[in-house]
Order: sequence, then structure tokens, then C-alpha cells
Amino acid sequence: MLVVACHLTACPECRHRTEIVEALGGVLLEQLPAAQLTENCLPETLSRLDAPPPASEHRPPPAPPAWAPEPLHRYRLGHWCWIGPGIRQIVVVRKGRSATSARLLWIAAGSALPEHGHSGMELACVLHGSLVDERGRFAAGDFAEADRELRHRPVAGPESECICLVAIDGPLLFAGPAGRLFQSLLRF
Ligand code: ZN
Repeated sequence: MLVVACHLTACPECRHRTEIVEALGGVLLEQLPAAQLTENCLPETLSRLDAPPPASEHRPPPAPPAWAPEPLHRYRLGHWCWIGPGIRQIVVVRKGRSATSARLLWIAAGSALPEHGHSGMELACVLHGSLVDERGRFAAGDFAEADRELRHRPVAGPESECICLVAIDGPLLFAGPAGRLFQSLLRF
């Protein structure tokens, strides 16, 4: 959802479609018979939501970087970690110890992620710069979806570094010793 929310901040067309779907959802909800809610319904529901990391009481959170769209502002982003030549990452959210996660990738201009396949779904939104792979070029705000069918080697455009938000629900599949080293640095 975080990747989609970031894309929506940059794409009026998808925002418009979302508004239509939400309006339709509202109409359908209004037609449903009312259900009895238990007393604990609201606190239980709230406790299931992903809570952002607690902000320090004394220090105001640092100002979000210019490339970070509004949906990312509720997350305290750590430091960029080196994971390969010209590649850094910040893990934004992660489900337990599994590979299911949303992470920010920083790729130097002209650098590439090693070629990989996908064991599940990969959703990405380019936040800064551009990314080119076997499917074409993705500019800031563009949304890209990959699945088990796709193997690709994303390359940052030559004009600037590329920053993108990527959500995956299974480990990426890298080949060869160098790929497996990269996989361990990604901490899947
Ligand atoms: Zn991929």
C-alpha cells in the first residue's frame, strides 16, 4: 500500500481512478445491512494497524528529504546502508524476519542492480531520477510491477542517482556467487 500511496501523490490519473473506486466502495458499503460492533472493536482494529516507529518525545523528527512523498513522512528513515558498488538501501518496514518488506534503494547514475528474478510480487515507485530495465524507462512518480515471470536488470538513468521505493513479498532471486553475496547484503 505504501508504494501505491507514493505513486498516487505523483499521478493525477490514478488518483482520479482511486477516487472513483472509493466512491463505488462507499455506495456498496451503504447498501450492506448494519452489523453489531463489539465494545473492543475499535481498539482491536487500531492495534492491528502497522504503527510507525515511535518518535522521540524530546527531539523533533528530522525534516523529510525533498524526494520523499507525503506517505513516507510518518516513517523515521534511518541511514543509507551500502549494499554494493553504487547501491545503498534503507529498510522502511519489514514483516518479522521474512523478506516481505518495503525498502528504499539508492542507485548511482548509470549503476545497475544485479540481474534477478522474483519469488513473489515486486512493486516499485521511482521517487527521484529514472530507472531503465527490459520493460522500458520509469521516471519519477512511475509505478512498476514485476512478478515471477520477469527477470530484469534495473539500471539508473545517466542524468542523476535514482531513488525508488520497492515492496516485495518474497526474496529476489539472484544468480551466481556475486548475486548471492548481494542477496545476503540485502538481508533477505
Ligand atoms: Zn526486480
